[in-house]
Amino acid sequence: MFLRLFSFLLIQCLGGVAGALVAPEDLQIRGALAGMLAAGLLWVLFDFSRGLRLLNWLRRGDVSDVPLKHGLWGEVADRARRLVRAREQQIRESDTRLQDFLAALQASPNGVVLLDAEGRIEWFNQTAATHFGLDAQRDLLQHFGNLVRDPAYAAYAAGTDFLQDVTMPGRGHSPSRPVRLSVHLHPYGDGRRLLLSRDVTALEQAEAMRRDFVANVSHEIRTPLTVLTGFVETLQSLPLDETERARYLDLMAQQAERMQTLVSDLLTLSRLEGSPLPSSGEWTSVRSLLLQLEQEGRALSAVLSPPEGPSQVLAFNLAAQEDIAGLSTELHSAMSNLVSNAIRYTPAGGHIEVGWLRHDDGRCEFYVQDSGPGIAPEHIPRLTERFYRVDRSRSRDTGGTGLGLAIVKHVAQRHGAELKIDSTPGKGSRFSMVFPASRLRVPRPTVVAAD
Ligand code: ADP
Repeated sequence: MFLRLFSFLLIQCLGGVAGALVAPEDLQIRGALAGMLAAGLLWVLFDFSRGLRLLNWLRRGDVSDVPLKHGLWGEVADRARRLVRAREQQIRESDTRLQDFLAALQASPNGVVLLDAEGRIEWFNQTAATHFGLDAQRDLLQHFGNLVRDPAYAAYAAGTDFLQDVTMPGRGHSPSRPVRLSVHLHPYGDGRRLLLSRDVTALEQAEAMRRDFVANVSHEIRTPLTVLTGFVETLQSLPLDETERARYLDLMAQQAERMQTLVSDLLTLSRLEGSPLPSSGEWTSVRSLLLQLEQEGRALSAVLSPPEGPSQVLAFNLAAQEDIAGLSTELHSAMSNLVSNAIRYTPAGGHIEVGWLRHDDGRCEFYVQDSGPGIAPEHIPRLTERFYRVDRSRSRDTGGTGLGLAIVKHVAQRHGAELKIDSTPGKGSRFSMVFPASRLRVPRPTVVAAD
């Protein structure tokens, strides 16, 4: 400021001196005054032009190249440049923060839609696009309610109670492939709403399975319990002779055993689901498993065969050298379920073959083949569901629980094996578990030292 005043006065003085020098002698004072005035005008014009340059520079908005470096205008330009730079930096930082925030919303496993006060879409993430079939080019600023025409959502969005969520079908929903979404609105800001969506298909299916499971277990237990209670009441109220008493007690024992088998299968299943995967360091000899299965199978077949008439023909191919990595209890449970199914469903006189095969690629297969009634193709995909039975009465009559193949499937999965079912109605069935080469080994024969 001082410099500016000084330069103004200096120019005036110089103008005055020059005016006095060029004026005639008697008009020197006037000449000096005129010189000062002209110099002052020049200074103001020059200053005005500098101010104009600065204004034009500011109007252009490009603050990279400062037009003036010195003087008051130079300082104004420098300060303006710094202010603009600081603002730009602030904007860049907020933009980065916004981008980070949007990236976080984008990464959310939930669908996120931002709606304005009119219910129009302001922004949505990729998950929401998948859930509702939204397109960023087409659907931004569209009314969400016009795009998602579900009565349950419409009623929910029209209300004011957003404490609960609403469940509705998602994009691509069909009765055979249901897609269910849970949608929750959260009001915020000035009438805006944050919409969160979650795919609850698996959750709803699990819940339905749990309900079915509880209903099935209750039903399976209620039947023998009702029979048992009936027999107890009969024993309590009727004077029965010894033979009748013994017969009733026999029937009661059968029902109690049925409940016991059911509970034991349920426990096996829950253990299979809850326990860690079997380690691959524990080895079980396949031959010893087959020997045990043969003993049990022949005993079961003898019990189930009618006293008169042909018995079943059982063949056990015991030539197995391999060991399997896994839990022998689980492997035995799965294999014996397959053997007992074959025996229970194959009529008297039928053939059953149990064995072990080595494939060329190193995999090995435990198989059980029978000449029983076979299974129609439409039942095969559902056989491993809990309590799914094709032949209800045969299953119950022979002590089946409907859980056997569910156990087999679990054990197979836990040992990296594949459960294969081939069956032709009227001809028979072949159930097999194919174990990967990584879970098998052929132990070296123990060398007996010569004396
Ligand atoms: P269950 O205890 O009823 O035998 P599983 O889960 O072991 O239950 O088997 C499911 C259903 O599959 C059985 O109810 C039966 O209808 C059918 N099934 C299983 N094995 C055989 C087989 N070897 N031959 C014919 N049907 C079979």
